[in-house]
Order: sequence, then structure tokens, then C-alpha cells
Amino acid sequence: NKFEQLGLNESLLLAIKDLGFENPSEVQEKAIPVLLEQNTDLVALAQTGTGKTAAFGFPLIQKIDVEDRSTQALILSPTRELCLQITNEIKLYSKYIKGLNTVAIYGGASITEQAREIKRGAQVIVATPGRMQDMINRGLVNIKNINICVLDEADEMLNMGFYEDIVSILSDTPEDKNTWLFSATMPAEVARIAKKFMKEPAEVTV
Ligand code: AMP
Repeated sequence: NKFEQLGLNESLLLAIKDLGFENPSEVQEKAIPVLLEQNTDLVALAQTGTGKTAAFGFPLIQKIDVEDRSTQALILSPTRELCLQITNEIKLYSKYIKGLNTVAIYGGASITEQAREIKRGAQVIVATPGRMQDMINRGLVNIKNINICVLDEADEMLNMGFYEDIVSILSDTPEDKNTWLFSATMPAEVARIAKKFMKEPAEVTV
């Protein structure tokens, strides 16, 4: 099993076995060792269906300190559907890690209930940019301890007009966090975000 050679811990390997994943996909093989071994920014050009959620999800989960209840990782994604999909995947991947909590934050649902879930202690938040910004403005979420920020489907988020929200959210996170940007394409706006917020990112293309 080639997953064992990527540096993933036993809890993740057990979950991977349950999921029936036999071998890492190309983006997983290229991104996972880099993200585990280095504290680095990353730009990955990868389409949906390539296994990109696990490519960032596995190392992200492995880097969470479950003894710490504060929010340590933020995944921004363009739509409610994607948010829920990613949340579901992260929960499956982290099923053997006791005390790791993942919460989905998106528009069109009760902000009070989402705030309550965050208050219980969510180390991982998967959010759409609009609702996330709203919750930050209302003081319902603290992102001062974030050390990983994932921008998933960055081109789609920017197409949907989330540039200002993304810039504002990223500006509120600590300077020394790592940003992992995933995008199917690299239009000028995505390059602008990368240039503004990332330092010497590792690059992966599949
Ligand atoms: P994604 O590109 O992240 O949307 O993943 C597409 C689908 O492939 C999801 O249903 C994943 O559960 C599945 N998947 C991810 N990695 C692997 C793998 N290494 N082997 C088999 N299936 C996978």
C-alpha cells in the first residue's frame, strides 16, 4: 500500500483502508509528502475528481492538535454543496481521531446554530467566504489561531465574486500560517491572490 510511504499516521491509514482507497492519486502522491514534511505554502493545479480533497485533507488532519480546541484550519470553498461534501470527507478521514471536530459554515442556514457548533470547539472549519466573513464581522468565530488555510476551487470562488471576502478573511488570519491553494485554472485573479498571500509556494500540477 503506497499510502504507507507518504508519511501518514496510523489513524489516517486505518480510515483510508475503510474507505477502500488502494493507491494514492497523482495529486495525493505529489502534495501529501511536501505538506507533511514542510511548513510551506502550496499552489496546486488540479480538477475536481482528482482526489484533491484528500490531498489537502490528510496532511491538514495530521497537523491538527486535538488537545487544543481552538480553530486551527480553515477551508474556504465556493458553494454550500462543496462545503458539505468536504466536511463529510474530512469527517470520514478523521473518524479514528478522537476529539477532532469539523464544522461546515455556509449561507442559507441558521447562523445561530452554526455559531453554537463552533463554540463547542471546532479545530477545522469548512466555509463559504460570504458566511465566514459575516461570522467574523459578528465576532462569532475566532481565526487568530489558524495555521492552515485552504482555498479550494479558488478560480470558482473568484468567479462567484468572493475576491473581497477572501482578501478580508486571509488578512484576519496570522501572518505565519500556511496557505494551500487548489484551482483547476490559473486566471489573473487567482495569481493575484497567490502573489498577495503566499510565500515561495511549492507547486503541484496534475
Ligand atoms: P475529489 O477530487 O477530492 O472530489 O475526489 C473525488 C472522489 O475520489 C471522492 O469520492 C473521493 O472519495 C475519491 N478518492 C479520493 N482519493 C482516492 C484514492 N486514492 N483512491 C480511490 N478513490 C479516491
